[in-house]
Amino acid sequence: MIFHTIIVGGGSAGSVLANRLSARGQNDVLLLEAGQDTRHGQVPATVLDSYPGAAYLDPNHTWTRLKVTLEVISHNNPAEKRPPVHPYEQARILGGGSSINGQLANRGAPTDYDEWAARGATGWDWMRVLPYFKKVEWDMDFDGPWHGTEGRIPVRRNFPDLWPEHAKAVAKAFEAAGYRYLRDQNAEWEDGYFPLTISNAYDRRVSAAIGYLDPATRLRNNLSISTGTQVSELLFDGQRCVGVKAVVAGQPREFRGREVILCCGAIHSPAHLLRAGIGPVAHLRELGIEVRAALPGVGQRLQDHPGVAIAAFLKPHARMTDTHSRMHMYTGLRYSSNLPGVPPGDMFAMVANKSAWHKVGEQIGSFLIAVYKTYSETGQVRLRSSDWQDEPQVDFNLLSDQRDLQRLMDGVRRFGAMHLTAALQSVTSHPFPATNTDRVRRLGKFSLQNKILAGALAKVLDGPATLRRYLMETMVMEGVSLRDILADDDKLEAYVRTAEVGMRHASCSCRMGSDDDPMAVTDPSGRVRSVDGLRVVDASVFPGVPCANTNFPVMMTAEKIADAVLANT
Ligand SMILES: Cc1cc2nc3c(=O)[nH]c(=O)nc-3n(C[C@H](O)[C@H](O)[C@H](O)COP(=O)(O)OP(=O)(O)OC[C@H]3O[C@@H](n4cnc5c(N)ncnc54)[C@H](O)[C@@H]3O)c2cc1C
Repeated sequence: MIFHTIIVGGGSAGSVLANRLSARGQNDVLLLEAGQDTRHGQVPATVLDSYPGAAYLDPNHTWTRLKVTLEVISHNNPAEKRPPVHPYEQARILGGGSSINGQLANRGAPTDYDEWAARGATGWDWMRVLPYFKKVEWDMDFDGPWHGTEGRIPVRRNFPDLWPEHAKAVAKAFEAAGYRYLRDQNAEWEDGYFPLTISNAYDRRVSAAIGYLDPATRLRNNLSISTGTQVSELLFDGQRCVGVKAVVAGQPREFRGREVILCCGAIHSPAHLLRAGIGPVAHLRELGIEVRAALPGVGQRLQDHPGVAIAAFLKPHARMTDTHSRMHMYTGLRYSSNLPGVPPGDMFAMVANKSAWHKVGEQIGSFLIAVYKTYSETGQVRLRSSDWQDEPQVDFNLLSDQRDLQRLMDGVRRFGAMHLTAALQSVTSHPFPATNTDRVRRLGKFSLQNKILAGALAKVLDGPATLRRYLMETMVMEGVSLRDILADDDKLEAYVRTAEVGMRHASCSCRMGSDDDPMAVTDPSGRVRSVDGLRVVDASVFPGVPCANTNFPVMMTAEKIADAVLANT
């Protein structure tokens, strides 16, 4: 059988495309996903949970062999020792990132999309993407010109009356710092603090797979979904992609289609192109891969949002109670760094009212501070070998632009100082700069041993103040003190450079662009240049990472390209 469309990767983008393209009865659509299914009635409890910590730490839901570097790598001195590698969760489950992410649902600045259009993605300016953002969502709280009411993904907010005391005190501190309350972060683009919008209904996650691959959609005769199916190779007849090779339940299979759409995310989609000989010539030759199409942009200019966190011990009355929701993040803040030449609303802070699933996690709250208008665009995805089973080499170079470093340092100063205000001291003590060390990650894993260990430590932490101080300094903090880094810029810079994390918003590694842009990998409809029958539709094609968590921008992109595909067939 020859399918009309083979979609490789059933993540945020792949789920949307499978639904929209199979809505036309004569299109036979095949969706191939490496990870497990999430059928209605069989969605794992950790995926449905509003608290996302369990879903993304479950090794059954991610590409566990993927390791990345985050710190800057000197291009002038390639012999310099490579920075350490870190785990970097990328989803391997139907629904992709939307099945394991933090469920934050936002869109970015209107100027982000005007910039996309200016960078050569004609037709992607704000006024032309807004209808597709609206098409994705069913806003359960608001309607009006900014909101969709008939989309497949419900979004809502936990308003301040439901916030735990920690979040309420944070709101007071934000007010005292001059930020005003915005009821709706997804309406006008202004600075202020707000209840975070989440893709969640009745305290249950709604992933792209739950929303778009619902039981009725799965009944379509022209839609086949094969999970547990890892695509190993793109098949070509000359310059035309004609299908894929895949491994299904341990057995090799081939599938043929008139068009193949790669939706494997910003790390695995470029890797597929490179293995097929589509990419920078020198790199392909280095690996002995025959060049099919010289596209220097493949895998280049990878982006993510750099971030750091300040954590603090939560006083017992300020903690989450789990009575109305298991969601652990309620409050967001959009603010402007006012750095010369940088647009307003470039920074984002999220307040977490717990930091892990166990008892110590319930005692630690945090501010996650991230540069949302980032200028660091020198990350890259390269192959280690031509073997499809090898994870690619991924270097994010997150703080390659000095402005990103400066703004993260400024964020630590701002929110460090905020922890000394009366509002925050009424709910927290022992603020400290957080680090994502192996020890922290080990304690974050689900296990009976961690549960018992954290339970015992939590009891003591709630005991006498002197013992708490000792344990916080020796067992919770990782040797860096907030006092020290606020007093010394060199120490602050060193902390930010090593503690920064990527927000897991990998994007831009196969950018859309105009015909005359040599670094553009696809045209504005996701069609890969210089070959036929092949598109990329996922976070890879962003011409720049927007000032947003990326799930909604990805689903918007898939909705818009689905329309373009249907209009031309
Ligand atoms: C831990 C985490 C937290 C996040 N938090 C948020 C948040 O709160 N809000 C937000 O907006 N965004 C968040 N994001 C980012 C957002 O979820 C992603 O940007 C988005 O899901 C990416 O969509 P995608 O379609 O590009 O790729 P994905 O959704 O990652 O989909 C790619 C799919 O392709 C499959 N695949 C890959 N290779 C193959 C192969 N060879 N064969 C078959 N299948 C393959 C993968 O298994 C995966 O299911 C988070 C991401 C992570 C990982």
